Amino acid sequence: METKFIEAHKFNITGPDYIYKINPYIPGKPIEEVERERGIKNIIKLASNENPLGPSPRALRAIRAHLKNLNRYPDGSGFYLKKELVGFFNSKKGKSKNFSAGNFILGNGSNELIDIAVRTFCKKDENIIAPFPSFVAYYLAAEQLGIPLKATALNNFTIDLPIILTAIDDKTKIIFVSNPNNPTGTFIPSKKIKEFIQNVRDSILIVIDEAYIDYAGPSILDVSDISSFPNVLVLRTFSKAYGLAGLRAGYGIGHKEMVSLMERVREPFNVNSLSLAGAAAALSDADYVEKVVKTNKEEKKYLYSSLKKSGIKYIETGANFILCEIKGKKAVDVNESLLDMGVIVRPMDRFGYEDMIRVTIGTRAENVKLIRSLKKLFC
Ligand code: PMP
Repeated sequence: METKFIEAHKFNITGPDYIYKINPYIPGKPIEEVERERGIKNIIKLASNENPLGPSPRALRAIRAHLKNLNRYPDGSGFYLKKELVGFFNSKKGKSKNFSAGNFILGNGSNELIDIAVRTFCKKDENIIAPFPSFVAYYLAAEQLGIPLKATALNNFTIDLPIILTAIDDKTKIIFVSNPNNPTGTFIPSKKIKEFIQNVRDSILIVIDEAYIDYAGPSILDVSDISSFPNVLVLRTFSKAYGLAGLRAGYGIGHKEMVSLMERVREPFNVNSLSLAGAAAALSDADYVEKVVKTNKEEKKYLYSSLKKSGIKYIETGANFILCEIKGKKAVDVNESLLDMGVIVRPMDRFGYEDMIRVTIGTRAENVKLIRSLKKLFC
């Protein structure tokens, strides 16, 4: 039953000034609610860069098997998932080798690890550098603690590493680099990232966020021995190529001392037991990830050619989403029209791109519906 009690009284507790300045993250409405509001059915969601193929079947089996243990707290050390991660990375061909459990920190999604990194390493008078536009969690992590953030411009929709170098000052503590970058999708070859790291002093934490690396690659871990970069934290997630966004599981890879400091800030049971079980099982489901990446590649090709035919410009992507230009129309208006046709995308006005939308690469049926809807608006 709804009560008006709370609104009837003045809320008298104030927070620090920087809390009032936070630009809150606005999550999309649930599909069912949009369907109810607009009186339509079979809406497709291409707004959040989710995996359209569903979760890894192996992960689902592991999760089901763990349901009966929900009366227990999760394993706070993430022992088995870390063991799987160690095996996974040590058996890979890349240049980074000899990992141990102490090189991994687990998060409630990689998003949480962004917050933990800032809370662990940033002092109030230090600053963070992040390109704009990029993943909003970088800006939020800084804003929540009142830490100044220097936003550097992109160059042709790509993160401009030389500009970041010029933005560094003696108070810079963390640099965020999303590779591929969200929301533009552009990928910087990891060899260039390696050169960049070599040009940054080692008292600055460089976070290389590889949420979408499975779609692009090779990773910084493949082209360089990460143990020679003690100031680099690589972030990965199970939300994208592993199809487990709802579980909330991600991890960071870095120097043991870096990880042990971040472990002090981590909430003891931050990753729940179903996430631990599902993520560990998903990691060994190489066939599933291969299928996901192959499908994404094929569907990207289909979307590129269909967008071209419809006269819609796009930015070439290394990820599972595409940034599209919508010919002088307003992103918010196009978003509304697409919603009426049962397609949820992400308008980019909040990122400073008034005439762009970001679309997740879906299944063939979803992509056909997207293109048909766009054609109704533009052709
Ligand atoms: N990094 C980037 C660049 C992202 O786009 C996202 C999710 N959209 C994340 C990290 C966070 O992913 P999660 O918290 O689901 O692991």
